[in-house]
Amino acid sequence: MLELHTEIQYVKGIGPRLAEWLQQKNIHVVEDLLYYLPFRYEDRLNPRSVAELRAGEMATVIAEVRSSALFYTKSRMPIFQMVASQGRTGIRCKWFRGDYLRDKFKPGQIVALYGKVEKEWKGKGLEILQPQFEIIGEAEDLDLEDASDFESLEVGRIVPIYESAAGGKLTSRWFRRILYGALKSLSPDLPDGLPPAICRRHRLLDRRKAFEQAHFPVAGESFTDLISCRTPAHKRLIFEELFFLEVGLELRRRKMRAQAGISFQLNDRVREAIKKILPFHPTAAQKRVLKEIAQDMQQPAPMRRLLQGDVGSGKTIVALQAAVIAIENGYQVAFMAPTEILAMQHYLSARHTLEDAGYRVLLLTGSLEEDRKRSARRHIAQGDVHLVIGTHALIQEKVEFNKLGLVIVDEQHRFGVMQRAKLMKKGAAEPDTLVMTATPIPRTLALTLYGDLDTSILDELPPGRTPITTRKISDQRADEVWQFVKKQVATGRQAYVVYPVIEGVASDQPELELGGTAKTSKSGLKAAMHMYDELRQKIMPELRVGLLHGRLDPDEKDAAMRRFKEGEIDVLVSTTVIEVGVDVRNATVMVIEHAERFGLAQLHQLRGRIGRGSAKSYCVLMTGGKVSPEAERRLNEMARTQNGFEIAELDLEIRGFGDLAGTRQAGMPAFRVANLLRDRKLLELAKTEAVKIVDKSDPEITESDYKQIMSHLRNHWQRRYGLVEVG
Ligand code: ADP
Ligand code: MG
Repeated sequence: MLELHTEIQYVKGIGPRLAEWLQQKNIHVVEDLLYYLPFRYEDRLNPRSVAELRAGEMATVIAEVRSSALFYTKSRMPIFQMVASQGRTGIRCKWFRGDYLRDKFKPGQIVALYGKVEKEWKGKGLEILQPQFEIIGEAEDLDLEDASDFESLEVGRIVPIYESAAGGKLTSRWFRRILYGALKSLSPDLPDGLPPAICRRHRLLDRRKAFEQAHFPVAGESFTDLISCRTPAHKRLIFEELFFLEVGLELRRRKMRAQAGISFQLNDRVREAIKKILPFHPTAAQKRVLKEIAQDMQQPAPMRRLLQGDVGSGKTIVALQAAVIAIENGYQVAFMAPTEILAMQHYLSARHTLEDAGYRVLLLTGSLEEDRKRSARRHIAQGDVHLVIGTHALIQEKVEFNKLGLVIVDEQHRFGVMQRAKLMKKGAAEPDTLVMTATPIPRTLALTLYGDLDTSILDELPPGRTPITTRKISDQRADEVWQFVKKQVATGRQAYVVYPVIEGVASDQPELELGGTAKTSKSGLKAAMHMYDELRQKIMPELRVGLLHGRLDPDEKDAAMRRFKEGEIDVLVSTTVIEVGVDVRNATVMVIEHAERFGLAQLHQLRGRIGRGSAKSYCVLMTGGKVSPEAERRLNEMARTQNGFEIAELDLEIRGFGDLAGTRQAGMPAFRVANLLRDRKLLELAKTEAVKIVDKSDPEITESDYKQIMSHLRNHWQRRYGLVEVG
């Protein structure tokens, strides 16, 4: 009998060697295995007969391998071809660059093929290009004696398809069999963390059934529901995952609230001081948000607030006003930026805003000389510095404050809040925390991603901005673009020209800022360093062209930034290092080369560098080479809208959550079933229920249910995610 915590080496068909392979997929115990859910399903209930196939349809075909061979096109591209047949009717399958399939098929094997049926390119038959396939009728060297029992797993049903593991050695078919066996010998009563009342209320399937049906759908299950994870089985597993996440977050939130913080005073003197530093009239949104922050700061519990505002919405001044409240109360403020360049930028603007009023501002970055760092730390510890600006890592690890009252974290568009600043000496009051982000995210998501933060939103841009005109254009028309840049510079404006890489990279990886050694890149990407020379020597020799990228040393970076800001450079050639926070109002043109290479969020951040003043701004999205349909869509959307909220939603939709959110980085668990975007409704439901549990305000939940939930959280959830400490 298998229990959830049984080690997988004891599952029939696994053993110690395969168990080791599975560890790499983070599968250690039976529960992990059960959560290894199919990533799609195949409808082999009614596999098609080859004779009936029509061009243009997606179909699953079960057939016998007849022959296979590798061909080369004139341009030496390998094409692998396999013919499979049912009786005398055959169908051809082709895989481009299919040399890896060379020894895959043997005549007589039964294969399941899934893909789009098309007319043969030459000839009158049908073919399937690049089908997904699975060899289903062949004895594998598996340690399973009763193979016949598994026959029915492969055809005549909806078949679960798993990601293969161990470099392809553990196939989808292998997982299917192992899971089938494991589910059969699974202990009949699994501990269920969800209380019966909640299961009843939301008609949730029993846990064991949910596992069974998610792996091996019951007859008659809707295929559409399956592939969109909407079956009762999925719903149950997703809800459970989100429910425990939310209970954990809620507990953490309460714990944080219960800590002793600082009640800042907001009297007339402080109010006066906040007003005095304002270089302009704040927008209504800025006023509202500052009020929310000030209210939090007056409370005895530590503030945990997230300030969301699109690029250019004016978050910085609000943060500096909050800083003034803390400073006027006799406390110090730490301002943490994600990069050195951004720290520098904030430092310049903070000095500009605060020093006249007598506040002492200090920059602390890794690139300072050792003895300057040392003296900076001494001043901070003695308390003769009011505001310290630096990078996250630096302030977090190395600095002792005399009396820290407020921590401002500028995340820009990165998520990373979960590892909160560990800044306090033991025993001291918790400082308030204000996190700023330029990623507009839906509220429930924010609540979950940023778990324990309250949210404020700056939903209004400062006045006097003109919309940016954005154009997509092929680099075959680069000449016209450069002419346009020159014309703008002639009217006194400045321009950015952005490249995806610093120099030619050796591989085709779309990794950004990854310097390589090759002179020209294999992928034909234009690179910043090379184009810097081209622009300055050949294309626009009459203009002052500067260069900024991540591999310059810090002094060079600062110098480039400063010269651009002060108008000594007309055109700044750069990589994505400028995407964060750089603020030069006179820059009204941005040319992004290889725009097809950038994601939406990144393009939005980049474009946010222009349109900051009242002059008309232009963004040119230049494409080079082939543009995929998805890239095409991204660029069209960029040209269509400037609304950061819309762009963020679209980005989530296109890229999915895992990648974008950097949830792992943020200390968020990698979900096993749930997808925060797709499952937003269930997330809300889970949140509501979780709050009621923690509040103990659900009359149907007994004390023993409560204990059960907490112990489940401790035993299972924490092992999986290690996120919450349950008190
Ligand atoms: P972000 O939210 O992207 O950090 P910033 O705080 O850098 O935006 O502000 C963008 C620009 O707008 C800055 O140059 C800032 O000085 C200016 N700004 C902010 N608020 C106002 C306002 N109320 N009126 C005029 N300009 C403002
Ligand atoms: Mg900013």
